[in-house]
Amino acid sequence: MIQTEQNARLREIRDKVEARERLSMDDGLFLYDPQVPLQEVGILANYVREQKNGNVGYYNINTHLNPTNVCVYRCRFCAFRSDLRDPKGYAMSDEQILARGQEATDNGCTEMHIVGGLHHQRPYDWYRNLISQLHENYPQIHLKAWTAVEINWFEFQTKNSVRWVLEDMREAGLGSMPGGGAEIFHPEIRDQLCEHKANTHAWLDIHQTAHEIGLRTNCTMLYGHLEKAYHRIDHLMRLRELQDRTGGFQVFIPLAFHPENTKLDDLKKPSALMDLRTMAVSRLMLDNIQHIKAYWIMLGIGTAQTALHYGADDIDGTVRHELIYHDAGATTPEHLTVDQIRQLIAETGREPIERDTTYHRVHRDPDNFAKWESGESVDAVLN
Ligand code: SF4
Repeated sequence: MIQTEQNARLREIRDKVEARERLSMDDGLFLYDPQVPLQEVGILANYVREQKNGNVGYYNINTHLNPTNVCVYRCRFCAFRSDLRDPKGYAMSDEQILARGQEATDNGCTEMHIVGGLHHQRPYDWYRNLISQLHENYPQIHLKAWTAVEINWFEFQTKNSVRWVLEDMREAGLGSMPGGGAEIFHPEIRDQLCEHKANTHAWLDIHQTAHEIGLRTNCTMLYGHLEKAYHRIDHLMRLRELQDRTGGFQVFIPLAFHPENTKLDDLKKPSALMDLRTMAVSRLMLDNIQHIKAYWIMLGIGTAQTALHYGADDIDGTVRHELIYHDAGATTPEHLTVDQIRQLIAETGREPIERDTTYHRVHRDPDNFAKWESGESVDAVLN
């Protein structure tokens, strides 16, 4: 594309963004063109980011729990899973799970992020009891648990409806759902990555049902493997369309593919330039999702910091016990202290603010860090 044409097209998109008009598939594809300067796309995304979320950089204090890595599926991008009889395979005991709850409480965590494999021999009740035990013993911790892939598996196990599974899990203590398992929705790619697990229709239907019964959920996209820009924009537009109908997504998290120890280990992981462009394009396309997260574990700290000026307003949490991306070769630390995460946000010129899972401000007891309560919605404060 010649320079003048490119400038005119960028100006057109800038006008749309400033007028809060929705961007089209063609706009998204144009912004993904490597000839369009990344910096220009970043400036546009940063404009939207500051309109929606001001100068704030959100974080939370959280821990991960992956109760089992044994999985009936064999997604090509997954380095975490194990076969049933592989020495690497594990399933945590009740004592180990409760010990994690205690550790999280002692360290002032507000959230436990719970996802794992679909174990061949563990019934639905094992997954449900895990939630109810944690909730009964540590009621203050928000349990953000089970991707749509797991909910789809529980549906299969129990022969009950999605709604029944979600309501039953909520009764046990489920607080919200993470956004994993979305990968890339377009069947040209999804069928090559994970043809057996929950398909696109099931993923979207489960999130829609969750929203209908009042559960908030997150959403994701795994990029940087077999897909092209078209598949990414298609993915974002499908999320945008569901959000128009339900309003239940609270944050979008673009997930950079890590190839190590996967069946796609001949691929290179996406560059920082691709990470930032994806962050920015996501911010611009998803006009109806309030928050965009730069997940530092996957991006690396430097790129996550930069992303706070390329559309992202959240950097995830301090994190404990992350396994999924470290199994796939992530070289980031396994944990950040509160001071470290606040510092890395502040270094970018953003104001660090602690939020809980559903984006309420967290107030801590100045004399006892582990004591806290959730306050006002951060979005209500801003708007
Ligand atoms: S991504 Fe999830 S469903 Fe797929 S193999 Fe890994 S653990 Fe199993």
